[in-house]
Amino acid sequence: MDKQKRIVLLGSTGSIGRSSLAVIDSLGEDYEVLALSGHGNWRLLAEQARKYRPRRAVLTNPKHLADLKAALRDVPDVEISGGPEGLTEIASDPECDIVIAAVVGAAGLPAVVAATKAGKTLAIANKESLVVAGCLLVPLAQEYGAKILPIDSEHSAILQAMHSGSRSEVEKIIITASGGPFRQTSAEELAHVTLEDALNHPTWIMGPKITIDSATMMNKALEIIEARWLFDLGGEQIEVLIHPESIIHSLVEFCDGSVIAQMSPPDMRLPIQYALTYPARMPCPSPRLNLHELGQLHFEPPDLERFPAIRLGFEVARRGGTAGAVLNGANEGAVEAFRKGKISFTQIAELAEQCLNNHNFIDKPNLQELLEADQWARRQIGRHVGVPQQTVSSQKGI
Ligand code: NDP
Ligand code: MG
Repeated sequence: MDKQKRIVLLGSTGSIGRSSLAVIDSLGEDYEVLALSGHGNWRLLAEQARKYRPRRAVLTNPKHLADLKAALRDVPDVEISGGPEGLTEIASDPECDIVIAAVVGAAGLPAVVAATKAGKTLAIANKESLVVAGCLLVPLAQEYGAKILPIDSEHSAILQAMHSGSRSEVEKIIITASGGPFRQTSAEELAHVTLEDALNHPTWIMGPKITIDSATMMNKALEIIEARWLFDLGGEQIEVLIHPESIIHSLVEFCDGSVIAQMSPPDMRLPIQYALTYPARMPCPSPRLNLHELGQLHFEPPDLERFPAIRLGFEVARRGGTAGAVLNGANEGAVEAFRKGKISFTQIAELAEQCLNNHNFIDKPNLQELLEADQWARRQIGRHVGVPQQTVSSQKGI
C-alpha cells in the first residue's frame, strides 16, 4: 500500500503555511507537497516552489503572476497559475490526500467547500470558513465522506482530550484564551489603543488579522462558533477561561466530573502535525513542556464588559443560521478599517454587534444566502467608514 500522504497547502506563504512546511520537513518523505498557494507574497511562493517542487503553485492575487513565472522560469515542472479559481482546483485535486486550509478570512471558504465536496481530509486553520458556513460544511462532510480536523490549538486540544471518553460522555468544553495584549487594559484606555499595540501579542506569533482578533477577543468568539460546529455542541456546553501563559490549550469535562486538559508550550507546529498524522502521534520539533520551570499557571474569568466580542460569539453559536456569516464579514471589514486607521479599536466589536442586531436572519441558509449575508455585513462596515469592502463572492469558483 502507498503510505505517502500528498498535501495541498492553501496559504503556504502565511504564518500557519510556513509552520506547516516546517512540520512536513520534519515528518520526512511520507509527506509530499502536491500544491502550494500564496496571495501577495510571490517571492516567498517562488522560493517554496523551488524547494518543494509541487505540481502546482497558485498565486491567488494575479498582480505579480508574471514575476512569479519569471522567478520560476528554470523550474518547468511546476505549473503556475493566478487567480482565486486555482485554489478550488487544487483543493479538489484527485491526487491529494490532505488539504491544509491556512488562508486567512472567508476568502478561504470556496476552497474549503471544494475540498469537503471532494471528500478530502481537511486540516483546517481557516476558522472563518467554519464560522461563516459551519452549518453547511458539517453536513457536507458527512455526505461526501470528508474528515475535518482542526489546526487551531484550542480545538486540537479538545479533539485530543475527547479521546479520553465517548462523545456522549462529554459534558462541556472549556476553551482557554491568553487574554491578548489588553488583558489588563481599562475600558477607557481600550478606546485609544493603536494598531501597533494591537499587533503585539504576548504569547503567540501569528498573522496580522488573527493577532488583532486576539486583541479584541473576537478570535475567541470565532473559536466558540468553530467549536460549536466541529464538535456539535450547544452554546451552554462551551465556556471560556482566561489563561495568560497559553500552556493549557483547552479542556474537556466529562459526565463523571473528570476534566482532561491538553498542555504544551505555545507552538503551532504541534497542532498542525496532529492534524496531519491523526490519530497517530509522531515526534515533533516543537519545544517540550517543563512545568517545574514554569512553576505556576494562572486562570481568571473573561471580562465580557471590556471584551463584548466574546458575548457575540456565544450569541452566534446559539443562533446559528446566517449569524456567523454576518459576524465574520463585519469583523473582517472592521479589522481592515482599523488597520487603515478609519475606526478605533473598540469600534470593531461595536460595529459587529450592530450588524448582528440589524441583519435579516435566516435560520437554514444555503451557501448563496450565507455569501449574501457576508456581503451585506461588509457593505454596512464599508458604509460606516466610507470605503467599499471587497466581498468573498466577488471571487469566482464557488
Ligand atoms: P497570515 O496572514 O500569516 O497568512 C495568510 C495566508 O493566506 C497567506 O498565505 C496569504 O498570502 C493568504 N491570503 C491572504 N489573503 C488571501 C486571499 N484573499 N485569498 C487567498 N489567500 C489569501 O495568516 P495566519 O497564517 O496567521 O492565519 C491563517 C488562518 O489560520 C487564519 O484563518 C487564522 O485565523 C488561522 N489560525 C492561525 C494561527 C496562527 O498561529 N497564525 C493559529 C490558529 C488559527 P500572502 O501572504 O502571500 O499574501
Ligand atoms: Mg486558537
